[in-house]
Amino acid sequence: MEKIKRDIPNLVPYSGKYVDPPEGDYVKYVGPGVVQVPDKVVIGYIEGDGIGPEVAYAAIKVANAAVEKAYGKSKKVIWYEIVVGEKAEKLFGNRLPDQSVEVLKKIRVFLKAPLETPVGGGFRSINVTLRQLFDLYANIRPVKYFPGLPSPIKRPEVVDLVIFRENTEDVYAGIEWPYNSAEAAKLREFLRKEFGINIRDDAGIGIKPISKFGTQRIARLALKFAVENKRRVVTVMHKGNIQKYTEGAFKEWAFEVARNEFRNYVVFEDELAQYGGKVPEGKVLVNDRIADNMLQQLLTRTGEYDVILAPNLNGDYVSDEAAGLVGGLGVAPGLDVGDWGMMAEPVHGTAPKYRGKNYVNPTATILALELLFRFLGWREAANLILRGVETAYREGYFTGDLARQMDEEERRQRVKEILGTQEFADKVVEFIKKS
Ligand code: NAP
Repeated sequence: MEKIKRDIPNLVPYSGKYVDPPEGDYVKYVGPGVVQVPDKVVIGYIEGDGIGPEVAYAAIKVANAAVEKAYGKSKKVIWYEIVVGEKAEKLFGNRLPDQSVEVLKKIRVFLKAPLETPVGGGFRSINVTLRQLFDLYANIRPVKYFPGLPSPIKRPEVVDLVIFRENTEDVYAGIEWPYNSAEAAKLREFLRKEFGINIRDDAGIGIKPISKFGTQRIARLALKFAVENKRRVVTVMHKGNIQKYTEGAFKEWAFEVARNEFRNYVVFEDELAQYGGKVPEGKVLVNDRIADNMLQQLLTRTGEYDVILAPNLNGDYVSDEAAGLVGGLGVAPGLDVGDWGMMAEPVHGTAPKYRGKNYVNPTATILALELLFRFLGWREAANLILRGVETAYREGYFTGDLARQMDEEERRQRVKEILGTQEFADKVVEFIKKS
């Protein structure tokens, strides 16, 4: 890893003390969600645990190549290491030290490779803490098919989704009590007395808050993204037929934003009759689908979906289903966005059994940086990354996780070479340079 790091330009690894990088400026927020990106921009990175460093440096190599190809010497990224996770535990005795949080607060825009979280006890999830710290309310997950990827559906080429998952509310807010707790007993009693609602004495209780504020800020982001990136459809996914005042309200509040703030750019499904059943040129169709139906339609009518806006739990289910359509976790990126910060990350975790083996697929992390560049307005670099990855797969270069999903015949037809993590990234760099 040290050798790989040495060969990456513009890297400022942690060297025992946080000092401002020798050149470059941080991304500046001039208003909620409005960024000014300097030509020499400092972006933070957290190496992560397990396979984290392997995928982080592979992705940084690709991102550097894309920026250089797109802008020559006129723009560059200075990658500034922030120590969090296992490495921080060793250095500071704390997985999320105050010093690192202070630097993150200055930088606000960063890559986070996966961090370990123990199941059922131990320390709190740093991933969740970071999202809360910066109020990163939107978890954005693009799911795109690249020709050559293994897929369980017949026409995977139609898969090009961007999922906007609300990140702060819903049952994920963590408001729940075990069945035998004093709090659950008190709540059951309150509901019995005040509302005449009888809940069994052995029932645990969870609360599902969904607010107008929380819904409308992510709806705004999804609609803005759809309009700016000339997407076809925004579908609000919900279970509002059953949970009327949470999921149903989510749909109503999202539609309200579309109607009041994007009227000139959108058309609603019930207006299509006026246009002969077709979406008028240049408009984004806004519709809604009930969650259960939608999960199966994503398999049977895949091409009808484009941008998906969902509350937290639905968003979680639909993103994993969607990732499964195009090769799985190895190719699933994410970006957490708030009004004052952004965190790019792969969807997958630290895959501890592959640590140090140079086996895993870096695509998820590479595409997380692609998305980050897109949100920073560096579209040319983002497009080059996409094309580089696409070419690598089209030309038959795969990592083991993908090759493994193909049968023998598919492997014979599609695979030229099975590459390790760093070699796959180098191949993408090669294609970016050649493009
Ligand atoms: P995981 O690390 O995502 O790994 C599960 C499996 O997914 C791996 O064993 C491997 O499958 C496959 N996989 C994951 N990343 C891959 C990649 N880049 N390329 C190819 N295959 C990949 O999930 P986990 O084992 O449940 O969690 C391990 C640790 O990560 C836990 O501490 C968990 O809390 C943490 N985690 C962190 C984050 C985050 O930082 N955002 C997210 C999820 C989990 P095969 O075994 O089939 O090869």
